[in-house]
Amino acid sequence: MPQQQSLFDTEPLPWEADDAAQQVVATVVLSTGPPGEFDYLVPVEMRNDRSRDAFVEPGRRLRVPMGKGNRLITAYCVRVETKPSGSRKLKSVAIVIDSVSLLSPAMLRLTHWMAEYYLCPWGQVLEAVVPSGVRVQAGTRDVTLLFLPTKVAARLTQLDVTDTQRKVLETLATSPKPLSPPELARIAKCSMAPIQALRKLGLIDRRMERLDTREVAAEAVAREPAKQLHAEQERALATILAAFDSGKHQTILVHGVTGSGKTEVYIQAIEKAVSFGRQAIVLVPEISLTPQTVGRFRERFDRVAVLHSHQSDVERHRHWRRIVRGEVEVVVGARSAIFAPLPHLGLIIIDEEHESSFKQDSAPRYHARDVAIERAMAEGVPLVLGSATPSLESWQHAASGDYSLVEMPRRVLNLPMPTVRTIDLREETHRRTGSGAISRPLSQAMEAALRDDGQVILLLNRRGFSTHVQCPACGFVLKCPDCDVALTFHRHDNAALCHWCDFHTAPPDVCPDCKNANIRYSGQGTQKLEAEVRARFPQHECLRMDTDTMRRPGSHEAALTKFRAGDVRILLGTQMIAKGLDFPNVTLVGVINADTALHWPDFRAAERTFHLVTQVAGRTGRSDRGGRVLVQTFSPEHPAILAAVKHDYRLFAAGELPQREALGYPPFGSMVRIIVRGEQDATTKAFAERLGELVTQSLQRLEVPHRMMGPAPAPIAKLRGKYRYHIQLQSPDADGLRRAVRPVLATATPPEEVQWIVDVDPIDMM
Ligand code: ADP
Ligand code: ZN
Repeated sequence: MPQQQSLFDTEPLPWEADDAAQQVVATVVLSTGPPGEFDYLVPVEMRNDRSRDAFVEPGRRLRVPMGKGNRLITAYCVRVETKPSGSRKLKSVAIVIDSVSLLSPAMLRLTHWMAEYYLCPWGQVLEAVVPSGVRVQAGTRDVTLLFLPTKVAARLTQLDVTDTQRKVLETLATSPKPLSPPELARIAKCSMAPIQALRKLGLIDRRMERLDTREVAAEAVAREPAKQLHAEQERALATILAAFDSGKHQTILVHGVTGSGKTEVYIQAIEKAVSFGRQAIVLVPEISLTPQTVGRFRERFDRVAVLHSHQSDVERHRHWRRIVRGEVEVVVGARSAIFAPLPHLGLIIIDEEHESSFKQDSAPRYHARDVAIERAMAEGVPLVLGSATPSLESWQHAASGDYSLVEMPRRVLNLPMPTVRTIDLREETHRRTGSGAISRPLSQAMEAALRDDGQVILLLNRRGFSTHVQCPACGFVLKCPDCDVALTFHRHDNAALCHWCDFHTAPPDVCPDCKNANIRYSGQGTQKLEAEVRARFPQHECLRMDTDTMRRPGSHEAALTKFRAGDVRILLGTQMIAKGLDFPNVTLVGVINADTALHWPDFRAAERTFHLVTQVAGRTGRSDRGGRVLVQTFSPEHPAILAAVKHDYRLFAAGELPQREALGYPPFGSMVRIIVRGEQDATTKAFAERLGELVTQSLQRLEVPHRMMGPAPAPIAKLRGKYRYHIQLQSPDADGLRRAVRPVLATATPPEEVQWIVDVDPIDMM
């Protein structure tokens, strides 16, 4: 029988059924289909020998019969127990799919918590957590390895065999490692026939092993020494190490301004953990997972694994195996790296913890930060959350004492924070003669910066050329027929595109409504800004970064390399350029319109605006050349903008938190958002209303204090041809909210063509 190593520490078999009154039962969950747990009988031949392919244990996938027709379906085994033989006759497990367990006991517990917390079937969570490359064991194959049984090796000379056969046996006896049949044939210079004959005689044994189809050499990276920490970094490090030494879980929020040297602190904390034989996970937003970021870890650790969404199945599986075997010191990755199966986790770090990309927008709709807290608690290790602009959720936890707070209010080498000034677009509009996006003060500042050999970053958080196509005569706005959003004109393709689906159309010459010929492309997108910059500064190289120009893999890094080299003097783009970049020569940052997200129907609109302006402002002033920031806005008196201008997080939080508290929004109350979508407006709405009633009844029955908004059309009332309604539930009692929604999930069945989802702790409110 093929032999497989278990991926995880093997435990004694707890399930032994020795009399007829007992049976061994496997509990399974399904990745699709009905939620809930199902019990199956484990046949004798599937329970005695872990080294067998067909062995039932938690974490392996099975095929089990389901329903009247006993159709075989795939299921994850989550438990195996000995139970008294009951009156109900159980069906038996039919097939064992995996030859190794895909999930450690700890990971099974974590995913079970996720299923409960995010109201998502456990099987669906498991399917999302185990990468598909791991499920199919991509990039590995079973190979047969031959070896001599010890008895045979001892009496090699006394054997009655042919000369060729003896040569084969001697070759095998002197080989430093087991050989595959073709290898053996090659070295012994014979055909396969004598080898097969010896196998038949029992003089050669074989075993199976799963090997990588190709070995990958690690890239060599020049090593960097540790930096001498300044006092604030020392304090931050000491706090983390004290938590590490305590052996107990603790969450530490590191609030450090942009450029305060947080990354160096993380690295030194990990160095300590690694010196104790432990490993670390570092989560960064997908967009920050650049070779530059990864390089900073590669320079300091020998064995770094990177996990991100563009990896092939083979790559993912290879990393996963290295991680399981304890061969990796640091895992750097986006959201899903929180599930990295490190055997001796010592520390978890989440950089830019406020980033919304840590929340997954498909089931299971988990937030990596909250999963990290759960995992760090279960494994008794510290969790470090770092940000220049912490989420108000984390900030409030620090204020209430749940988290330890470490502040790093100064930049390294005592570089000053850049000066930030607002430009009131209302005044500029009156004064202006042209119709460009760049005001006169910003234009002058750009000229000055470029004259002094500095570089400029311009942020406009809207891609495309214009934000909408509008008729000045009747007010008609060109909309997507499938989504309730205005189309964006893209000059490069000469098309009006929907940014939510793939709809595109030729832009009309006359208004489709009133036939006016002056239909206009209004509002600013990055394409139009690029055209304006090129027209105004023709002598300087300019580069645009947004999802339209950065489609190809590697284009992001190529663009940043050009900017770093200084060939490109002006970098303009969407929020893609606002985060994490560290270019000492940038002496000016211009925000074209700070208000783009300020008036969204989302209670986090002000927080997002504050984050974006603060983060982009942090891209300058990173050398002794200093830096300045000009923020164009129609709302210079808005508290979020005022606080960002002063780099004052506390001021922002102090203004925003009381409003959240008054309305019961997070972090003071929990939220669950229910979204219903369907092809027909009336049936979709009717089902949303039905859900509203069911949820209300359930909340009342359980006496959960709550506030319910809706059912109402979602802010994007139509998307990809489907009507959308939503219900927003709020309560100070997070558990109560879940307890009330869970039975509705189990019982409410939508009409055909209507789907609904439940989003716990929603980030996306559209
Ligand atoms: P943050 O993550 O807080 O934005 P970084 O860790 O990226 O800050 O540090 C900003 C810059 O300062 C980096 O170029 C880093 O190499 C440098 N740096 C960090 N700590 C020190 C130190 N103690 N001495 C000198 N330079 C440092
Ligand atoms: Zn659309």
